[in-house]
Amino acid sequence: MKITEYFEKANGQTLISFEVLPPLKGGRMKAIFDSLDPLMEFKPPFIDVTYHREEFIYRRRSSGYYEKTSIRKRPGTVGICAAIMHRYGVDAVPHLICGGFTKEDTENVLIDLNFLNIKNVLAIRGDARKFDGKFIPEDGGHTYAIDLVRQIEDMNQGRYLDENIENGDRTDFCIGVGGYPEKHFESPNSELDLCHTKAKVEAGASYIVTQMFFNNQAYFDYVKKCREIGIDVPIVPGLKPITKLYQLNSIPRIFHVDLPSDLVKAIEAAGSAEGRRQAGIEWCIAQSKELKEAGAPCLHYYTMGDSATIRQIVEAVY
Ligand code: FAD
Repeated sequence: MKITEYFEKANGQTLISFEVLPPLKGGRMKAIFDSLDPLMEFKPPFIDVTYHREEFIYRRRSSGYYEKTSIRKRPGTVGICAAIMHRYGVDAVPHLICGGFTKEDTENVLIDLNFLNIKNVLAIRGDARKFDGKFIPEDGGHTYAIDLVRQIEDMNQGRYLDENIENGDRTDFCIGVGGYPEKHFESPNSELDLCHTKAKVEAGASYIVTQMFFNNQAYFDYVKKCREIGIDVPIVPGLKPITKLYQLNSIPRIFHVDLPSDLVKAIEAAGSAEGRRQAGIEWCIAQSKELKEAGAPCLHYYTMGDSATIRQIVEAVY
């Protein structure tokens, strides 16, 4: 079923969903099942699976020279989606990224998804590779998520890259995109960022999932601004609990989000690792309850392999 149909059917009730990462190359599917099994009793209608671009690594050869090698550390998104749907009977939402894909590659992945009866995709640009400093698209690939949305929408109309294909199978993908309550870090200002998000919706996206945030006011203001400029699709808040001291620096650095002083104080004041974990959980529970009361369409938890923490939060909220 399409994600938007779940929202319609929920009739104002707040749904719940999870996001998982593929295991590192060489890892087992069992790791994904082990992290999802304890969460399935909460009946998420859908589960997102992230996509990871290849990274460059430098390997030292016996000659003393370094060889630049390209590896994909977390492959398997499409297979994991199929396995999740098969095991749990829920919808899986693969993230599709622009980075590392030519348009032809993208088309082939979409054909695989269509044949697997995967009806939903989250269309995302992807981040810069570590050594690039800025996002560099693949030759013959897309520069912005909107270009990816347009390609998916073209296939929904039966238009393939090869113009000689007549009567191409019309896919029926429901497309989600990312949104940034605290602005995407590369955007000169929030207004421009919102205009680009609106353009993604006009190009065919039918819901938005937000970057994580730790102050609900940022989400409420974001939804208000979206509505004011005519973005009328469901806006799903993305949530991630902070459970470790180092995350006070790593989360702002990686995700470009602000951590409220009270949250930072609570984590710093806790006297043990378990105390810090509980402080982060309490914060996320409070955030979740408020968002649910405010009528958010769905609470989307970034599990990042820590299902015990997410379970504790969801148990307290639902
Ligand atoms: P875009 O919408 O393309 O926007 C990128 C920047 O360009 C923004 O600053 C925007 O304002 C600007 N922009 C957009 N269109 C234009 C235009 N036409 N002209 C000029 N500027 C423009 N990354 C992964 O690698 N894998 C994942 O699975 C993944 N999942 C994610 C899930 C969610 C819910 C979110 C919010 C992010 C996810 N990311 C993932 C991270 C994402 O790749 C980065 O945040 C990336 O930097 C931006 O992606 P985007 O799709 O928002 O890009």
